[in-house]
Amino acid sequence: MNKNVLIVYAHPDPRSLTRQFVDVAVQTLGNKGHEVILSDLYGMDWKAVFDEHDFPARTDPERLSFVAESGNAYSTGRQTPDVMAEQQKLLAADAVIFQFPLWWFGMPAILKGWVDRVFAYGLAYGYKGEGNRYRYGDGGLKGKRAMLSLTVGGPAQDYSPRGINGPLEQLLFPITHGTFFFPGMTVLPTFAVYGTGRITEEEVERAKTAWRSRLERLFEEEPIPFRHQNGGDYPDSHMLADHVAAGQTGIMAHIKE
Ligand SMILES: Cc1cc2nc3c(=O)[nH]c(=O)nc-3n(C[C@H](O)[C@H](O)[C@H](O)COP(=O)(O)OP(=O)(O)OC[C@H]3O[C@@H](n4cnc5c(N)ncnc54)[C@H](O)[C@@H]3O)c2cc1C
Repeated sequence: MNKNVLIVYAHPDPRSLTRQFVDVAVQTLGNKGHEVILSDLYGMDWKAVFDEHDFPARTDPERLSFVAESGNAYSTGRQTPDVMAEQQKLLAADAVIFQFPLWWFGMPAILKGWVDRVFAYGLAYGYKGEGNRYRYGDGGLKGKRAMLSLTVGGPAQDYSPRGINGPLEQLLFPITHGTFFFPGMTVLPTFAVYGTGRITEEEVERAKTAWRSRLERLFEEEPIPFRHQNGGDYPDSHMLADHVAAGQTGIMAHIKE
């Protein structure tokens, strides 16, 4: 069945490696009959900074509470037009691909700013005005797939299980788990092209072939098995039950074996 795919990407150069992977996705998904929509953040001159200008109709002119103003602006339809347009694209999407170069082990600021501004209270957190009742597997973006697709300067070795940087998927946990699984998205394993600092034409071609085959299975691939808040592993909605991942602490305890 044909689906809607939103690609949010962050690179200003149309010849960049990042942009080439966007082009491969547009072509591959288009050939499969999917509808592809792009959010070219640099091209749109996206405002990265979440600030007072995001709330044209403040409820409290004295003090700026982002959470309260975000909830009010979202629920009363008084957000800025750029944010509303992105939310519409997001809500229409069956899958969202985030294509970006790894910068300081995270997203470029312009993409972080897209999340800060678009993921409003009432949509991505505080869903249905019920605090944390809906999060980690449940929420306003439930049913949508999310996938990170990255270009990475360092070699794969540096991101291997004992590599000096730490494993990439663990470094990205705040994004995959804390940002996209949090509002209910189904998050797929990250696609990464390593060693972009010294990449050859042949390696680029191999990476594009690998990217095409990931895209072919965008709607079939098994997600990262994050534990759901409301799936029984967190009886008080805060901490893992003692018998779940017994004795294990840290990030990996939140991923089923
Ligand atoms: C602020 C900042 C922070 C960073 N932080 C990190 C970090 O935390 N960890 C890390 O590992 N890296 C880091 N890097 C490196 C970064 O991840 C890479 O610069 C990025 O992945 C390159 O992607 P790009 O799309 O900008 O590539 P481009 O700069 O467009 O291309 C990369 C190279 O590939 C070549 N190339 C492009 N297309 C082709 C082609 N078709 N055939 C052959 N060669 C081609 C280009 O000539 C260039 O040499 C950082 C870089 C910056 C600027």
